[in-house]
Amino acid sequence: MISEKMRNMVKNSSAIRAMFEEGKKLATVYGAQNVYDFSLGNPNLPAPAKIAQALKEEIDGCDALALHGYMSNAGFEDVRQAIADSLNARFGTGYDQSCIIMSVGAAGGLNVFLKAVLDPGDEVVVIAPFFGEYANYVANYDGRLVVVPPNPPTFMPDVKAFENALTARTKAVIINTPNNPTGVVYGEETLKALADAMRSAQKKYGTTIYLLSDEPYRELVYGGKKQAYPALFYENAVSGYSFSKSLSLAGERIGYLAVNPGCADFADLVGACSVATRVLGFVNAPSLIQRAVAKCLDESVDVGFYEKNGKALKAIMDKCGFEYVEPQGAFYLFVKAPDGDDAAMCAKAKEHRLLLVPASGFGCKGWIRIAYCVAPETVANSEGSFLRLAEEYAK
Ligand code: PLP
Repeated sequence: MISEKMRNMVKNSSAIRAMFEEGKKLATVYGAQNVYDFSLGNPNLPAPAKIAQALKEEIDGCDALALHGYMSNAGFEDVRQAIADSLNARFGTGYDQSCIIMSVGAAGGLNVFLKAVLDPGDEVVVIAPFFGEYANYVANYDGRLVVVPPNPPTFMPDVKAFENALTARTKAVIINTPNNPTGVVYGEETLKALADAMRSAQKKYGTTIYLLSDEPYRELVYGGKKQAYPALFYENAVSGYSFSKSLSLAGERIGYLAVNPGCADFADLVGACSVATRVLGFVNAPSLIQRAVAKCLDESVDVGFYEKNGKALKAIMDKCGFEYVEPQGAFYLFVKAPDGDDAAMCAKAKEHRLLLVPASGFGCKGWIRIAYCVAPETVANSEGSFLRLAEEYAK
């Protein structure tokens, strides 16, 4: 018999994954080219060629024992130093290898961090809409998820509401910019305002509040702009990164945590994260891909590909008369359900072989998410289905 806790997680299992599985079923009935699957944030671009080259070099040129054996739980020291150097050069941070813990994707890093800091009942503040898996990750360690309500139409954080969410039990705040599911990008002013609110709460309650900045989309910002680096504005910050999106390596499960050198209880925190990596059963991040990404830290997939897909999709939404949030990065379009019922909109969309995700699971009822990290033909060919969906609402 499975556990009560797991039973609940299975019951509330991710709407995204459910849609993805549904898509696979529909594809067998109608043919994959006739199903428009916008459910999962699975990049449609191949990894940069340099990744394959780096993997080959590692396999051909390395000491096999050193490459394939166990290592420090936090990962290869030289890989961590290369990441620290790259971040320092780009953002003016002061990391060294001791600040970096290699992780099994962003998901692994988030779990490692939460395992390291949460006692049962500790509160983790998230800003809606948020990546739905945060709820499961916090529940894994018996934390309590505190949700700052969504702030339409901009979906930038409502700083007052954020301040109100911080209590004596707040252990951590998770932010995510560029954001999944809205595509909004927090600028310096917003990051500073959130940092000020956390500092005031720390002072008021005599506690430490960690900021966990979840950054899988850091490199995916449109219009040649750059994401401001959140950890620069707040001492007690940990940046969680993933190569899943920027290098299209989602299946390889590789990322890292970067702990600010000035972070409260730095040594305890990095030590606990290393031990968490072990006791959660990952032991360490996969070795071969650690070495490969270390050689590709200046690489990125073509952001323009996603920006173009986004534009094409927005043009379709305009024809349909659907309201959406202007995405500034990542690869998601956040669209308002015309009658406020996101689940019904996704169900109706499925009738037209469109797979969309209701945002109720992201803490934002009445909106849906369209992941446009798909082939451009998928966007183009989906137009007729979207128009038929819009007609239903027009009736
Ligand atoms: N955080 C956010 C905001 C995401 O969108 C995702 C994946 O879509 C993750 C974390 C997990 O990423 P990873 O594949 O690196 O575990």
